[in-house]
Amino acid sequence: GKGVAVFTSGGDSQGMNAAVRAVVRMGLYVGARVFFIKEGYQGMVDGGDHIVEATWSSVSGIIHKGGTVIGSARCKDFRDREGRMKAAKNLIKRGITNLVVIGGDGSLTGANLFKQDWPALLQLLLKKGEITEEEKAKNTHLNIVGMVGSIDNDFCGTDMTIGTDSALHRIIEAVDAIASTAYSHQRCFILEVMGRHCGYLSLSGSIATEADFMFIPEYPPEHDWPAKMCEKLESVICDQLGFDTRITVLGHVQRGGSPSAFDRLLGCRMGAEAVLALMEATSDTEPCVISLDGNQAVRVPLMACVLKTQAVARAMQDRNWEQAVQMRGRS
Ligand code: ADP
Repeated sequence: GKGVAVFTSGGDSQGMNAAVRAVVRMGLYVGARVFFIKEGYQGMVDGGDHIVEATWSSVSGIIHKGGTVIGSARCKDFRDREGRMKAAKNLIKRGITNLVVIGGDGSLTGANLFKQDWPALLQLLLKKGEITEEEKAKNTHLNIVGMVGSIDNDFCGTDMTIGTDSALHRIIEAVDAIASTAYSHQRCFILEVMGRHCGYLSLSGSIATEADFMFIPEYPPEHDWPAKMCEKLESVICDQLGFDTRITVLGHVQRGGSPSAFDRLLGCRMGAEAVLALMEATSDTEPCVISLDGNQAVRVPLMACVLKTQAVARAMQDRNWEQAVQMRGRS
């Protein structure tokens, strides 16, 4: 059967384990040999016992766990050709020419580059005597499928990324807990959530917890926001503004804990679809990302989505809010 390897890279998120599990089991079901690569690209470069063959039972009892059981890492070596050559050799020696990458736009960019570089890497490895002519002939094409694991929901081309829903659950639990003490003490609480350039967690969290005021990067505060906020608060509570104010920064709590049912199902569906995409891939199939589109797991072009995501991030940094929001709309 085909050799398929799955790895998680960059920041972790809840639901990655469900995706890994689905890739392993769907892969075995369709007759592939499936491998884990531990610690992302670093494990691919280092090889050895970082690359292990998976069995049906090796992914039992992981779906309810947060984070990623196969580890994630950032890897400097993979950015250089030298590192990618080591990675390519480690894959070829195990007959792996199909990769499932679960990560953010950086990890997906790396995978795309790897595919583009693959013919040159094979040539170099052959010249150096690291692989044989026969190994080169057997491994001419590298197939890539990506899935986006991120709690920020900041990737263009999918309705939801793996982990976002669980993070939202963490947020509303925290706000509900804080709200009960806030009401008892006439205190005002300000909560900072994650999301980087994307206000999804703030917006959805605010609606779900009936926040009085919300700040999102796509709609930055105007200079008179304190007046507007007081006006808004006044309509709720007449004798406001003597309020004691506390700030809570939720931080990595949002990325931790058990994945929600939605993220487990999302990981399962995307993982299964990723394997099908690899099985159907031919020599001229471009890398794709499995995305959620109207509750369907579909394949979208990887690099087009990555470039759009990066363009949105740049627009946000340049304070071109309207352009960013427009670009981010469904592709
Ligand atoms: P994320 O995937 O969450 O966006 P990073 O941007 O840190 O996280 O990328 C994760 C890893 O992917 C990097 O540590 C590196 O090994 C690899 N990577 C990212 N960008 C590139 C690139 N342009 N070329 C090669 N590898 C890359």
